[in-house]
Amino acid sequence: MQRHDLTIHEAHELLKKRELSSMELTKAVLERIHAVDAKVRAFVTVTDDVALVQAKKADERIKAGNASPLTGIPALIKDNMCTRGVKTTCSSKMLESFVPPYDATVVERLKSAGMVMVGKGNMDEFAMGSSTENSAFFTTHNPWDLERVPGGSSGGSAASVSAGEAVYALGSDTGGSIRQPAGFCSVVGLKPTYGRVSRYGLVAFASSLDQIGPLTRDVTDCALVMNIIAGHDPRDSTSVNQAVPDYTKSLIPDLKGMRLGVPREYFVKGMEKGVEQAIKKAIAKLEELGAKIDWEISLPSTPYALACYYIIAPSEAMANLARYDGVKYGFSAREAENMWDAMEKTRQYGFGAEVKRRIMLGTYALSAGYYEAYYVKAQKVRTLISREFAAAFTRCDALVTPTSPTVPFRIGEKTDVPIQMYLSDVCTMPMNIAGIPGISVPAGFVDGLPAGLQIIGKPFSEETLFRVAYAYEQATEWHKERPKL
Ligand code: GLN
Repeated sequence: MQRHDLTIHEAHELLKKRELSSMELTKAVLERIHAVDAKVRAFVTVTDDVALVQAKKADERIKAGNASPLTGIPALIKDNMCTRGVKTTCSSKMLESFVPPYDATVVERLKSAGMVMVGKGNMDEFAMGSSTENSAFFTTHNPWDLERVPGGSSGGSAASVSAGEAVYALGSDTGGSIRQPAGFCSVVGLKPTYGRVSRYGLVAFASSLDQIGPLTRDVTDCALVMNIIAGHDPRDSTSVNQAVPDYTKSLIPDLKGMRLGVPREYFVKGMEKGVEQAIKKAIAKLEELGAKIDWEISLPSTPYALACYYIIAPSEAMANLARYDGVKYGFSAREAENMWDAMEKTRQYGFGAEVKRRIMLGTYALSAGYYEAYYVKAQKVRTLISREFAAAFTRCDALVTPTSPTVPFRIGEKTDVPIQMYLSDVCTMPMNIAGIPGISVPAGFVDGLPAGLQIIGKPFSEETLFRVAYAYEQATEWHKERPKL
């Protein structure tokens, strides 16, 4: 196996035994980036210098005998998480030259664990999208088929991990942005429970839905990253003060006694036959592993989740994005008649089409007269969706569904019709609406293109998700496949 293809736990073993140094591993990954990223385009910024300094420090720490499982391991951070001294653009012209003066809590935690940061990941502008085609800079390509999208908005994160350009990555998920690209690139992606991971230093899109999580090559790695990034943070008032278990304790390869539900509404109209077959096969595998499958679960409000999301998310986004006025930081149009003109020009040039669409949708939904009809109604639907999940979890320990209704689509295929693009997230949005965790694991290939299996649980049931995901992974070979680049 090539060095750049190692998992975190494999690399950690070699580092500990001193059969590999962090410097060697980091150089192998940087070489890989320079060899393939012209094709994949996962990186907005490659941070060679930062990485080499961190690798050197990591090797000293390993030598001193106090390495954590993440010490010396190269990672990519999505470009909407603040990194002190390193550009954080959100793939937007608005923040094209923004260099944060502080680290996001997750970055701070990974640094204390000994992370080697190789760069910042491309994404849909401000995380609005499902393909990275909304990046103001360039589109990331799917390593399994360069003519297809890697998913989004954490497309750079998923593509880099699958292409060997980072051992693991962080992404953010507001409606599916970790899980959908994980599924499209055949890697593992977890959206934790709302409040499990601090959002401090994550550039806000929709604050009641946003959550940070890992993208990794296998489930063990995902648990290792969660062990570091999860936990209370006084700087994020929505982060929950609840003890973080050692997630690696949940990595048990059998499912005896586990009750898994299959919500019938998730096998939606328009779902590709190949995806449906792959997921049904995965469910049969879960049954073989000892799980009891309940096919009678129903979540009747599911069809309204998309509409509910596209009221709530733009409403919050419109408020969050009001701060980009060209005054405090970010792009500022200076050739202007007066303050109002400057603000208008700043936002006109600084934001791309999708971001403007969301700002308009949100402004409309919150305006006098429509607020009750749209925003308040969406909040009521949100409550219904949460209650239906809670009821389902009285009957089963977790739910299993496809991550997306399709395999990765072609670049350009869905850019003309926003609704088509929005539909990419029908299976992942309801979890953000309800604040519950979901994980996507590789579940096979349909004509060479990846399909993802999603496992969903009640609040703070990440351990259950890890157990199901791990048992499935250990019984299959999908996670061992690597794209040929
Ligand atoms: N695709 C969805 C959107 O465009 C979700 C994005 C996300 O999770 N950040 O809003």
